Order: sequence, then structure tokens, then C-alpha cells
Amino acid sequence: MEKENVSNGGIVIVYTGNGKGKTTASLGVALRAIGHGLKVCMVQFIKGEWHYGELNSLKKLEPDFELIVAGKGFIGIIDDDHAFEEHVRAAKTALDIVEQKMSLDIFDIIILDEINYAVHLGLLNLGDVMKIVKNRPKHLSLILTGNYACDEIILLADLVTEMKEIKHPYKKGIKAKRGIDF
Ligand code: ATP
Ligand code: MG
Repeated sequence: MEKENVSNGGIVIVYTGNGKGKTTASLGVALRAIGHGLKVCMVQFIKGEWHYGELNSLKKLEPDFELIVAGKGFIGIIDDDHAFEEHVRAAKTALDIVEQKMSLDIFDIIILDEINYAVHLGLLNLGDVMKIVKNRPKHLSLILTGNYACDEIILLADLVTEMKEIKHPYKKGIKAKRGIDF
């Protein structure tokens, strides 16, 4: 028997795990949604200083897609010259931006890119994140990406996919590739 459609509202999606594909999966959803005339906003919580290919292509999707780069670059690794406090401020600003975008009520999907990792690193308070997820407008879907998604968020989510690394070219010394990794 066909299952009853219990909700026409938005859902909460989590892409987590140690394998590649979390951010790109969320962009895949965005591409699909925009094709239906929906509007998508993506707020980046951590990385902000790499010139990703998607920055260029997403510009072409404005105003259906809005990208906000709020994060401060890689944290703790590779050339991180920001103080921890700076990362905290940047992540909090990103969360404030998400709240503002929610209150505008123009987006159908908001992608909180790397937010799971920001919570894991202690840049954000889990309670603050949970509050925002729970208080979202009914029709709005959220996509939370980043490894180490915490149990509370997984419990709250409707769709959770764990990207599991089977192989990654990095492990045999192949550096990040333009068009595939950034
Ligand atoms: P992508 O943005 O490619 O979808 P992701 O969002 O799953 O990747 P992040 O943790 O955000 O992964 O890391 C982003 C960058 O790190 C990308 O350049 C990606 O190729 C690389 N990366 C992701 N997973 C791995 C891995 N298991 N080993 C090495 N590099 C990785
Ligand atoms: Mg990512």
C-alpha cells in the first residue's frame, strides 16, 4: 500500500561521514530544487578562503541561489593563522546569518555547510543550533553538512546519509584537483 504523505513541510537533511561528497551532495539538491523554481541559500560555516569552482558557477544561479561565505578557512590545519576565537566569531556570525535568512522567508532550502564540524570543534553551541533547527519555518528544509554530526542532530533529522571513505586519491599522494575538489 502506498504510504500516506504525512507532511508537505520541509525536512532536515544531514550529510556526514569521513568520505568525500557532503558539500557536493548538498549542491546537487540545490541544483534539483532550483529547477523546480525553488530558492536556495547556502551559508558556509568554516571554509571561506579557497576559491572553489562553485563560487563562480553559483553566481550564475542568482537570485535563485545565494551563497554566503562566513567561515574563516581551514581550522587547525594547513596554514591556519586565525586565532580560535576568530573561528568562533565567524561561526556565530554564520549562525546569525542563517537566522536572518530564515526570517526573510524567501528560501525553500538553506544549506548549513560544515556546521556539523563547527559544532564538533566547539565553535558553536549545540543548543543554539538545535534551537534554530527546531524553530525553522514549517515549509523550510535544512541541509546540515560536515563530518562528526552529533547524535542529537541525527535524531532530529529526517534524512541522514553517512559518506564513508572507501578510497580517496589523497591517500596515494594525489593533490586536490580543480573541478573535483575545489
Ligand atoms: P566535497 O566538497 O568534495 O563534497 P566534502 O564536503 O565531503 O567534500 P569536506 O570535509 O568538506 O568534504 O572537505 C572538503 C575537501 O576535502 C574537498 O576538497 C575534498 O575532496 C577533500 N576531502 C573530502 N574527504 C576527504 C578524504 N576522505 N580524504 C582526503 N580529502 C578529502
Ligand atoms: Mg564539505
